[in-house]
Amino acid sequence: MTPGASDPGDMNARIGHGNVPEHGTRYGSTEHPMPNKNREIHLKRRPVGMPVADDFELVETPVPEPADGQFVVRNVWMTVDPYMRGRMMDRKSYVPPFQVGAVLDGGSIGQVVKSRNSGFAEGDYVCGFAAGGWREYNLTEGMMFQKVDPALAPLQCYLGVLGMPGLTAYSSLLRIGEPRKGETVFVSAAAGAVGSVVAQISKIKGCRVVGSAGSDDKCRWLSEQAGVDATVNYRKAGNLLEAASQACPNGIDIYYENVGGEHLEVALELMNSRGRLVMCGMISMYNSVEPPPGPRNLVHLIGKSLRMQGFIVSDFIDMVPQFYADMGEWIRAGKIRWQETVHEGIAEAPAAFLGLFRGDNSGKMLVRLGPDRL
Ligand code: NDP
Repeated sequence: MTPGASDPGDMNARIGHGNVPEHGTRYGSTEHPMPNKNREIHLKRRPVGMPVADDFELVETPVPEPADGQFVVRNVWMTVDPYMRGRMMDRKSYVPPFQVGAVLDGGSIGQVVKSRNSGFAEGDYVCGFAAGGWREYNLTEGMMFQKVDPALAPLQCYLGVLGMPGLTAYSSLLRIGEPRKGETVFVSAAAGAVGSVVAQISKIKGCRVVGSAGSDDKCRWLSEQAGVDATVNYRKAGNLLEAASQACPNGIDIYYENVGGEHLEVALELMNSRGRLVMCGMISMYNSVEPPPGPRNLVHLIGKSLRMQGFIVSDFIDMVPQFYADMGEWIRAGKIRWQETVHEGIAEAPAAFLGLFRGDNSGKMLVRLGPDRL
């Protein structure tokens, strides 16, 4: 099997059975944590521009003891996500900013090792949708946690295709994009965690899919594994408008925005009348010190009767049951594939995060903090 590719194999037994990708890339090594020591990553100072390793600090603390109603999780996986860059700034947003000198936070998967909470027993595997990460041991009352069954899917899937990025892709594409058979969908950051799921759901819905990504390897995976119809390597394209218009000869009906900047201008140029722009993220501007120049061709929204809508994944929380049902079926049927890029050990978490802004990841960027079982 090609490194980084997933093979649908026999999907009958469980979600993800035989579909566990060989990890695209591995960095560092997972050291088994000392039983009485916890290590966590603190924000040392607020990054200016592109973050650097020195903005973060590895801090050792005792493993916490649960009080009544609490439990302690030994984390197995944590995620790094582009939205975390926004939380490193001191500004008002839909989530509170991280605090300097305090542990960072984000999605996590782990096993309960001590519990004084009747809802969570020792040995249970739990997922913090956006909580409990950036540390080896996590003390919680369980508010943002749900139990997951490791027999149903590889644990880390709950941070990827079956987690926040998967739900983001599924809900926003279906609700805002409203894909119809035969339409052309153009996806930026198409080989990433969200983009790769958007591309494949668009195919399932009968669309023609064009993916933009930053390397030939990523474009190859999109064509050969995700089944997209055409790709653009935007780093090599030279003239992105020309490359995208060749890849989309019938124009664009849905633009799925992960990147911003030139990609957005190009999409606006090529949109068909009554097209939809699903505004998921704009990673190209997350490290900008000055506001970047706006798209110069927003006027197309008017003449082409376009609809452009932003969202936060929690807007679509009502779609969670349908998401699990559809994704489970599609994964079992081999219709959704995925890649992972894995950094090993808590000390690697800042490097994993920084890599998102260089395009180091193919598919979901993850950090493995320890073995599934001790
Ligand atoms: P990805 O897995 O897609 O990783 C980020 C990717 O972005 C990189 O691999 C890289 O791919 C690309 N990238 C980085 N910098 C640039 C740049 N300057 N120009 C163009 N491409 C760049 O991340 P996610 O799937 O987790 O997130 C994708 C987008 O979705 C982000 O913008 C994120 O903020 C947004 N998001 C929004 C949510 C919401 O609720 N609205 C929820 C979750 C994510 P490449 O090599 O192709 O350049």
